[in-house]
Amino acid sequence: MTATPAHAEPAAAPVKAVLLGFKREALWIAIFGFFSNLLMLTPTLYMMQVFDRVMLSNSEYTLAALSLLALLLFLVLGFAEWARSRLLVRAGTRFDLLMQRHVFRASFDAKLRNTASASPQALNDLTQLRQFLTGNGVYAAIDTPWVLVFAGVLYLIHPWLGYAAVVFVLITLAVALIGNKVMASRHAKVQAAQIQSSNYLSGKLRNAETIEAFGMLADLRRRWLSIHDQHGLHQAHVHEGSHRLQATIKYVQYAQQSLVLALGALLAIDGHITAGAMLACNALMGNALRPIGLVVQSWSQFVESRAAYGRLSTLLQDHPPRSGRTDVAELNGQISLRGLVAKAPGREQPILKGLDLDFRAGEVVAIAGPSGAGKSTLARCLLGIWPDAEGQVLLDGTPIEQWSREAIGPHLGYLPQDIELFDGTIAENIARFEDGQETQVIEAAKRTGIHDMVLHMPRGYDTPMGEAGSTLSGGQRQRIGLARAILGDPLVVVLDEPNANLDDVGEAALIRTVADLKARGRTVFMIVHQPNLLRVADRLLVLDNGRVAQFAAIRVEAPAPKETATP
Ligand code: ATP
Repeated sequence: MTATPAHAEPAAAPVKAVLLGFKREALWIAIFGFFSNLLMLTPTLYMMQVFDRVMLSNSEYTLAALSLLALLLFLVLGFAEWARSRLLVRAGTRFDLLMQRHVFRASFDAKLRNTASASPQALNDLTQLRQFLTGNGVYAAIDTPWVLVFAGVLYLIHPWLGYAAVVFVLITLAVALIGNKVMASRHAKVQAAQIQSSNYLSGKLRNAETIEAFGMLADLRRRWLSIHDQHGLHQAHVHEGSHRLQATIKYVQYAQQSLVLALGALLAIDGHITAGAMLACNALMGNALRPIGLVVQSWSQFVESRAAYGRLSTLLQDHPPRSGRTDVAELNGQISLRGLVAKAPGREQPILKGLDLDFRAGEVVAIAGPSGAGKSTLARCLLGIWPDAEGQVLLDGTPIEQWSREAIGPHLGYLPQDIELFDGTIAENIARFEDGQETQVIEAAKRTGIHDMVLHMPRGYDTPMGEAGSTLSGGQRQRIGLARAILGDPLVVVLDEPNANLDDVGEAALIRTVADLKARGRTVFMIVHQPNLLRVADRLLVLDNGRVAQFAAIRVEAPAPKETATP
């Protein structure tokens, strides 16, 4: 059993592969982009014609015809712009839909397996990437080659104008890129400080009651404020820097506009170009610099999106969709361990140190041992959810990770030590959030003896539980967790200290439930700390420091004969 499942599909480059599926849209966007850029020459040509032809010939008909033509071309320009932005938005929505499912699954997998590519912001990365791909970034990419076309037209009007265009474009680019580079490192600091600040806060809010009980608030606030102040400081740096950058870019733009006009005027005075061309070249220069403006605007977004693309690609590559055996109908719940070693980060010694055990299908195994012996770790290995395990857990002879999780999940029941209920109703929790399970939910509740308890709650099965079942008592949560574990009559049930929070009534119900599971031939593992549950168990496994200290059948003591009172 390894962190990466043996039966994983071959890793493709998923984000790239999905993006390549948009070739047709890209082609249409490029075609519309071509027309909209070409038609941007309209105002220039119109201006030149009005100045150099109409003004000289004084022909009103020519002016009317030219104006009509220009209006028509503007209409086509507007349509091309609208069509490409619509295409982009639609492609973005489709990209999001295609990726969402993979990203959600892979982030969950990464968290479960605790791998380096686990990132709490994978879905934000996806949004970031989509926004870039459907925003100015794409326009910048499509329109940038047109800089050369506009510079070429300027060159044709007069070579000096062409050279000026190239120089201005290079100056604008240099100012923007240097500025953005400086800003990128400042942005990174703000982001890191923000994450640190919000992580600190949300971590502490989770323990609000303890904080209140110990009167720790003032100390925690002091610490949080020092983190928060750092964030504020970095943010002020960013604002300062971006204002300076904006001011520099504005200066460069205004200086360029005036210089182009001056150059045009100089050429017109010397008779190299007409007055119309002089005015038109100002508009043309604007066209040539526009895509550069887009590049500048979207540069920081581009840098962030490139990082998001990298993170998403690594995440999806490290966690490809898992496939596996699905023939669960043949299962009978026999489990074997072969050289099972469980490790954890930051520990030199493994938690479980090579277990070789065979459990019979349909038996109830009690697992005991001192605190920290590795019982909960074994429970998670039995379910195939321990991230760093070597050796094998065989379910009916097949390594557990080779079963498809979707197929095997409903056949496994698990009550974790800290129960882990989710925000939702009682019914939803018992149903494992699967729709259409009403009958099974009631059956599971009846089999665990909580049906009446639930009916007496304010809204019965529709009672909301609050975050992590916070509106219920410890015992109620444990009993609901038990009902969830046995929903749908799973083949293998793993119960981690199922009676930790139970009173006598709850424990009696638990014993009945386990006896019922046994009668149905289910394989049950239960971690126990008190002997009460041993009477429904067939065998007792005692772990000590990650090794088997004892594994033997439980001999049920015959009840001592009742003493009869002697008259
Ligand atoms: P208890 O009866 O107190 O619940 P246990 O026998 O169930 O104890 P485990 O929870 O399996 O013990 O833990 C065994 C050891 O492994 C402990 O020393 C624990 O600190 C360590 N451990 C458990 N989970 C992790 C983890 N995710 N990372 C690092 N160490 C871990």
